[in-house]
Amino acid sequence: MSGSVPDCIFCKIVAGDIPAEVLARNDHAVAFRDVNPQAPFHALVVPVDHQPDAAASAAADPAVLGHMVTLADEVANASGNEDYRLVANTGAGAGQSVFHTHLHVLGATTSMTETLV
Ligand code: 5GP
Ligand code: ZN
Repeated sequence: MSGSVPDCIFCKIVAGDIPAEVLARNDHAVAFRDVNPQAPFHALVVPVDHQPDAAASAAADPAVLGHMVTLADEVANASGNEDYRLVANTGAGAGQSVFHTHLHVLGATTSMTETLV
């Protein structure tokens, strides 16, 4: 599975069809604020190409995960978080609720005053 999937909320955010506070993007991934933050800084990094979870993205194109981590590091650093957590819930039993690959980027501070896009 790749490209955009109808009725996938993160595909719609990537396409700009529904609003999100986009912090940064590169050719392969988009970073935006989580609508329900669990930390002072909480962003999501999603690949442009739809896959259901991180392992599926790795199987389809391992380089995509590298682009996602690079973008996560950029937005974490831009928000004043040199240190941060990356979380990829995989499977409903682990709390995954949106089945489009995403990294949670969780930081203890938020000093971001402007976005990177
Ligand atoms: P999961 O539970 O699948 O690991 O994480 C999904 C995350 O997506 C949750 O933290 C939830 O708050 C976030 N989320 C769900 N719908 C939206 C949305 O429409 N916009 C944004 N910005 N975040 C969303
Ligand atoms: Zn999707």
